[in-house]
Parts: sequence; C-alpha cells; structure tokens
Amino acid sequence: MRVFPCTQCGKCCQNVHLAEETRFLDRGDGTCKHYSDSSKQCTVYADRPDICRVDRQYEMNYANRYSWDEFVDLNLQVCAVLAEQPERGPR
Ligand code: SF4
Repeated sequence: MRVFPCTQCGKCCQNVHLAEETRFLDRGDGTCKHYSDSSKQCTVYADRPDICRVDRQYEMNYANRYSWDEFVDLNLQVCAVLAEQPERGPR
C-alpha cells in the first residue's frame, strides 16, 4: 500500500474551520489548538484525533467506497485546495 505522501505543509492543521468534522479543534482563528506555530508541527501527533489519521479514516469510513489509491488522490486534491489558503500566523 502506498504511503500517504504528506509533505507536512501544515495547511490542513491551519484550516480546521473549513470542515465540520475538524471544527472542534479550532483555537479561534481557524488553526488547530494542537498546532505549533513555531515548530510547524502537531503537538499531540502520537495521540492525534482519528479525524487527523488518513489511514484510520479510510478504514473507518471510505474503504467500502474507494480503493486506497483513489482515496489518496482525493485527499491530495484537498491538499491542493488548502495550499491556496492564506498563511496563518500566531494570534
Ligand atoms: S490534532 Fe494535530 S494533526 Fe490534527 S489538526 Fe491538530 S495539529 Fe493537525
């Protein structure tokens, strides 16, 4: 199985306000409350929520509809959309 090609750009963590499923993580400016602006990394990575785990999301919700490769490609399309979002700095 191909590994999800995350580039750790942080755009998904900086735009949690855009999806109902991740809105609970919003610290108030659209960025996740667990995202570190200084290190540009998740501070709870080992214990991050299921919604942040692409492989778990696939198994839980999408394996009956898409192949893994299709699911990766769909997620990469979202990555491309998020890449167009403006950079967010610390509040
Ligand atoms: S919990 Fe971690 S991986 Fe999930 S959105 Fe927040 S910073 Fe990103």
